[in-house]
Amino acid sequence: MTARRQAKPPQRTLDAGRSVVIVGGGVMGCSAAFELAKRGVAVTVLERSVPGAEASSAAAGILGAQVEAHHPGPMTELGLASRKLYAGFVGELERASGIAIGYRRSGVLKVAYAAAAVSKLERAWAWQKKAKLPLRKLSRRELGSREPALSTELGGGLWFEDDATLEPRALLPALRVAAEKAGARFQSGSFVKRVAEQGGRASGVELDDGSVVKGSHVVLAAGSWTSLVSQAQALRVVPARGQIVELATSVPLLSSIVFGPDCYLVPRADGRMLIGSTLEFVGFKREVTAGAVAKLLAAAIRLVPGLAEAELRQHWSSFRPYTADELPLLGPSATPGLVFMSGHYRNGILLAPISAKIVAACVLGEKPPLDLAPFLPDRRATSSP
Ligand SMILES: Cc1cc2nc3c(=O)[nH]c(=O)nc-3n(C[C@H](O)[C@H](O)[C@H](O)COP(=O)(O)OP(=O)(O)OC[C@H]3O[C@@H](n4cnc5c(N)ncnc54)[C@H](O)[C@@H]3O)c2cc1C
Repeated sequence: MTARRQAKPPQRTLDAGRSVVIVGGGVMGCSAAFELAKRGVAVTVLERSVPGAEASSAAAGILGAQVEAHHPGPMTELGLASRKLYAGFVGELERASGIAIGYRRSGVLKVAYAAAAVSKLERAWAWQKKAKLPLRKLSRRELGSREPALSTELGGGLWFEDDATLEPRALLPALRVAAEKAGARFQSGSFVKRVAEQGGRASGVELDDGSVVKGSHVVLAAGSWTSLVSQAQALRVVPARGQIVELATSVPLLSSIVFGPDCYLVPRADGRMLIGSTLEFVGFKREVTAGAVAKLLAAAIRLVPGLAEAELRQHWSSFRPYTADELPLLGPSATPGLVFMSGHYRNGILLAPISAKIVAACVLGEKPPLDLAPFLPDRRATSSP
């Protein structure tokens, strides 16, 4: 999808009563900034590095509302609600920023080798069929005609036609430009030490140089670092490292995203292919490891044998913001004026549009688009997912 025309500068009426300080310029902070600024709220985004420096630019860009949904529940509802918003969100963003973000309803194939493993997949996702979500089983032959580069060893798979993809490294600049054009201010190189309070209410934040940035509301969107800025939540956010390898071929070998055993493959239109990912609890260690690269490459080449001839381009790692119940911290905290927007773990890119609408509703005192009880930051984890 390409941006066709530049948006006119928005007509804004500043909401004199509210000024929002957002901590963190990842996909969460930038989407909240765009949504709030469009609605006339004065917004300042404080980012210790540059916007998009961390997990949000490292993501593969899968909008996997169905392939990532293993059972019905609040997370699935959140993902589906966000996927529904995506086409409109992208159109608005591309018009406002002039930056194309590579959004495509690519569909996702979840594949397995043995016939028994294919049947297991079918049973595991049967609840989605019952819920009338678009999903189809593909035989080995159907798989081969849809994606001829896939291994003939595969026994079949599931086809999630409404799951989609985009380029996170274009999404982040687009969000920042669009938010800035709508009136948001970005302050890079601003390290937030803590949330400041006055009379029991959030009144802004204190930076590491001792200065204070005041606001009627603070939105905490510091990703994996959220619990280092504030402890005003029962569940901690911790980093879950993920590593990615990027290959390239002269023409794309796949058109859809493929989830296989031991890796997923995300094709780009220009022949790049992302291979992801690991899930590691190793603190903030930023390495890419030889063992992970070896395993990802082996799994990818088994899935698509033609990748053995691909050029090895680059590799990277970053930190998914993880919580013990794998649900985000989203909504008002026990401290009035302090709103959380963090802990989106494996699906922050997918969840950005709905999360931005939720945060805007919290700041503006409106009814949120869905029930926030499961996501409230002062909940306790009752059970593992
Ligand atoms: C390898 C990998 C692949 C992924 N693939 C996908 C995918 O395909 N689809 C999907 O939906 N999701 C994916 N994710 C998850 C997604 O990237 C995250 O859920 C999402 O980016 C989180 O966004 P965020 O804004 O909360 O965090 P971040 O992008 O990490 O942003 C947080 C920002 O806060 C700043 N910050 C931190 N502390 C402070 C402070 N004290 N003061 C000022 N600024 C501060 C940081 O510098 C950072 O820029 C993936 C993640 C990884 C690691």
